[in-house]
Amino acid sequence: MEKISVDFRSFAQVTKEFIKALGQKRTYSLFENAYCIFGILWGIPVPIVTIGIHLYSARLLLNLPNIMRIMLHEPFYFFFLLHPVFFGIVFGAMGTVRYNKQQKIEELDKQKSNFLSMVSHELRTPLTTVAGYVSFLLTEKPGVLNQTQKESLKIAAETADLLNHLIEELLDLSKIERGEFRVNLAHVDMAKVVHKAVTALRLYADSHEIGLECDLPHDLPLVWADKERILQVMTNLLENAVKFSRIGGKITIAASVDRQNSKVVFCVSDTGIGIPPDKRDRIFDKFYQADSSENRKYGGCGLGLAISKSIIELHRGKIWIESEEGIGSKFFFELLHATVHL
Ligand code: ADP
Repeated sequence: MEKISVDFRSFAQVTKEFIKALGQKRTYSLFENAYCIFGILWGIPVPIVTIGIHLYSARLLLNLPNIMRIMLHEPFYFFFLLHPVFFGIVFGAMGTVRYNKQQKIEELDKQKSNFLSMVSHELRTPLTTVAGYVSFLLTEKPGVLNQTQKESLKIAAETADLLNHLIEELLDLSKIERGEFRVNLAHVDMAKVVHKAVTALRLYADSHEIGLECDLPHDLPLVWADKERILQVMTNLLENAVKFSRIGGKITIAASVDRQNSKVVFCVSDTGIGIPPDKRDRIFDKFYQADSSENRKYGGCGLGLAISKSIIELHRGKIWIESEEGIGSKFFFELLHATVHL
């Protein structure tokens, strides 16, 4: 049989937090602490029910003189009358404990964010130097390189690129968490953005023998967007589409105009591995990866989609996914038509 034990340490901790909260002004403030109001409402039925039962059993009418008579006759009922106050204080203290915990979490989050930002900045400086020297050597100005040296330096340059990308993502995340992530919206021709993203990803897709196609309407209207940030979203979706596709797969970028809601919906679809239904809701969470096994095949750190979601939301849009395991995925995002007044 399972042994039932009382966790005295956490009980002592809760008592300590509760007593501390009793000494805080917030516990008694109806305006700052909704828990306090909730407690009072919770306590109101206590005197009503107890006095009501007394009146009913004494066959007396429920009116003020009778209530006063009972109270004077049996002052014990004042104790019941004070219940809304007791409940208000107890619930209020619980609200304060919760508030204190929340404050602590926010403080820790802030420290973590600052730390993340500081470390990323510190990493970026030496990395830029390393990448600079590697590309300088690759120009062969300091001396002619043999094939092995060239290959090795190319690998070093690619690794530096990957690291730089990761640092950029960490910096973006820390900005998002501190509420400092901004977009500058202007009228943008998305056909140009898509073209830029496709050009940047073409080599990567070719190396995996994956077809990359655009299926944009000729009369694609301008949208409200931050050109650089929306290019980041498009590149991220395309990179993922290539990364999670099999050799010989196909990726299509399409768009449709929703005139009724003044929106343009973009879709990046692939014929890749797809995402199981129970993981679809979580892929936009930071650091979440559908394949979290120790021998993960795919790189990355699970930040791209979380950042893309924040970017699209700053554009007052939505991002969502439709996917079938083993068949492929479709990532949609919508942007406002440039005719909308912001
Ligand atoms: P990363 O790609 O660095 O892991 P993302 O935030 O871009 O991080 O993606 C989170 C997770 O969502 C990925 O690890 C993968 O499991 C899943 N995912 C994203 N795009 C696709 C896709 N096109 N096909 C299948 N799974 C995907």
